[in-house]
Amino acid sequence: MKLVTFAQQGAVKVGAIRGEEVVDVTAVFPSMLALIENYVTGLPQISDRLAGATAVPLSAVQLLAPIPTPRRNVMCLGLNYAAHARESYAAKGQAASLPTTPIVFTKATTAVSGPYDPIPFDAAVSAEIDWEVELAVIIAKAGKNIPAAQAWAYVFGYMVLNDVSARDLQMRGKQYFKGKSLDGHCPTGPWIVSADELPNPHDLRITCRVNGVTKQDGRTSHMIFDIPTIIAYLSQGMTLLPGDIIATGTPEGVGFARTPPEFLRPGDVLESEIEGIGVLRNEVTAVSDLP
Ligand code: MG
Repeated sequence: MKLVTFAQQGAVKVGAIRGEEVVDVTAVFPSMLALIENYVTGLPQISDRLAGATAVPLSAVQLLAPIPTPRRNVMCLGLNYAAHARESYAAKGQAASLPTTPIVFTKATTAVSGPYDPIPFDAAVSAEIDWEVELAVIIAKAGKNIPAAQAWAYVFGYMVLNDVSARDLQMRGKQYFKGKSLDGHCPTGPWIVSADELPNPHDLRITCRVNGVTKQDGRTSHMIFDIPTIIAYLSQGMTLLPGDIIATGTPEGVGFARTPPEFLRPGDVLESEIEGIGVLRNEVTAVSDLP
């Protein structure tokens, strides 16, 4: 099932996709988090309603971030694809070393944005805005000390996420948080694909384009730490919660590691795509041009 949060006539609603239409399920689940918290009964309930329910065309609604206000920060894996780790070290003139323990940082909840939202650009804040397409995992239920062998039972679904990064801010500080957390620098969606619909998330093409030119073209099979390993690691002594978002890292081809380095400018269109999920399309927009 593909699940969306959308705006219609000023109201924020929850829905399920049926073909090119959206079936509104807000009366049963007032928010995506409420749906996830009741997924055991909720998903079959939605599935039962889907066939006969009235629907609105997808083109008539505005898709928002599937989880518009996450309960807490987005958890992100750093350097989780070997080729990206190598390009990152090379760009800094350092010898490459692959992580032996997952590298985890977070993005602020206020960075999260929708699948077609503009990416704000403010030259006074950062001149080095970069792209990182990633597979995001949504946690289904609370869990602590989850063994890797049981981790799949804790996955609610998946979405595309771009870990947009202000490289100057990121590299200047000793922590990534600030450079990873500018408003609107975490486009997500276009929907959550439920786990049952994506049986092998580790064999998907993952691509990122800028103005139609392919910059990243990888496969999720190239992750260093796979999804069960990440869930097992994060849940050690730390409770994962329903609706938690985990960004699993980006393949090679980011802007700062290119020769010469490339960064996004106002007017650039960023497309982030994962096979079997969908495409995000976000235009970089000067803050002075934002509403
Ligand atoms: Mg990243």
